[in-house]
Amino acid sequence: MKHSTWIVLIVASLMTGCITGLDAGHPRGQITTKRAEFMLSFDDGPLPETEQVLDILATLKAIDGKPVKAGFFLLANAPEEFWQQRFYYAPYELWIDKGSISKYPKIARRIKQAGHSIGNHTTNHTWFRWTWLDTPEAVQGEFIEWEAISKRVLGASNMRLFRPPYLILNTSVRETAERLGYQIVMGELAGDAVPNMTVDEIMQKTQSILAAWNRPYPCLLIFHDNRPATYQHLDEIVSNLQHQGFQLVHFDAKRL
Ligand SMILES: [Zn+2]
Repeated sequence: MKHSTWIVLIVASLMTGCITGLDAGHPRGQITTKRAEFMLSFDDGPLPETEQVLDILATLKAIDGKPVKAGFFLLANAPEEFWQQRFYYAPYELWIDKGSISKYPKIARRIKQAGHSIGNHTTNHTWFRWTWLDTPEAVQGEFIEWEAISKRVLGASNMRLFRPPYLILNTSVRETAERLGYQIVMGELAGDAVPNMTVDEIMQKTQSILAAWNRPYPCLLIFHDNRPATYQHLDEIVSNLQHQGFQLVHFDAKRL
């Protein structure tokens, strides 16, 4: 091997050592790295399990010491019949109970009364890759019907937040959301929707997302009301992150 190659290798390994030292957090006390802030959001409610999520949230304190406020991206009228679900949902999804403002209006109101933010997650949890649903009329219909049902149950709202189901943001979805004045709110999947994902694995995943977070705004984690790991263990998952030094802040779409 040439001398120059050896020099490159030695310099590279020294640099790697440096970077690893910085990531470790406290290199000789010279650099204090502020741990990332994170917000919570929940998709696919409202449904009975949402009540357990709300109970847990009331016990979790944000960095200001107050019970944390989260973002809930609700469905207005998700299909309940198996074959109707096949018409709207992703082909890889098995039978899954999803939320519905029209079916569970009291739970939707409880979310609002607790001071959480509510966003549009479409009426039917539409997989916008189905050709019959990826038309301007169908896409707009998903927004408009959601608005009508939401207004009837929750009253008028100035909050116009949208998260596409499956995080599929194709051109027609993006253009429709923007034309209707919505802020599109994406986020980082906590992993609770992955089949067989354990609570420990969700803790590991959320921890590594936050450890790598380097954007100038808080990380918005995405959970799902209808997953046992979330409605039974959310407090453990969030406490674990707080013990790592990550800072729980209230959901605030203006900061995203
Ligand atoms: Zn969803």
